[in-house]
Amino acid sequence: MDKDFITLTIGKQKNIALIAHDAKKADLIKWCQDNREILKGHFLCGTGTTAHMITDSTGLPVRGYNSGPLGGDQQIGAKIVEGRIDFVIFFSDPLTAAPHDPDVKALLRIAQVYDIPIANNRATADFLIQSKLMNESYDHDVINFSKNIAERATSMKENA
Ligand code: PGA
Repeated sequence: MDKDFITLTIGKQKNIALIAHDAKKADLIKWCQDNREILKGHFLCGTGTTAHMITDSTGLPVRGYNSGPLGGDQQIGAKIVEGRIDFVIFFSDPLTAAPHDPDVKALLRIAQVYDIPIANNRATADFLIQSKLMNESYDHDVINFSKNIAERATSMKENA
């Protein structure tokens, strides 16, 4: 019988996604400048505009996906599902309505499903980046999606 959970490993070198809503971009850029020495030891990516601005102001290589409102948050969510992003710093703006709010919600949800460390504000980002786990690999349990699919398919067939 397959297990309900499988163990995945967040490597010592993290695959970090960086995202900031417009009102928070300056804060995230400042945070990246303050933590440049740590960040340069990891693989960085982000939504289009955020990635571009961080590279411009820090020199750190940040792979850019589409802009958030054009699907960038969804691309990052998909990479989490594929196990290719394992750490997220997302300075969202709690005071402004955004057209892509459903995408933002979806990203937060999928990060929760896959047990991904995710910071929504500077204090959380500071605690995460200072964690001793930043210098270690980390095993965590996520839902065994193959077993989940097999069981769902079987139970739907039985109930048909
Ligand atoms: P941006 O997207 O980095 O392209 O501005 C971020 C967002 O609004 O989610």
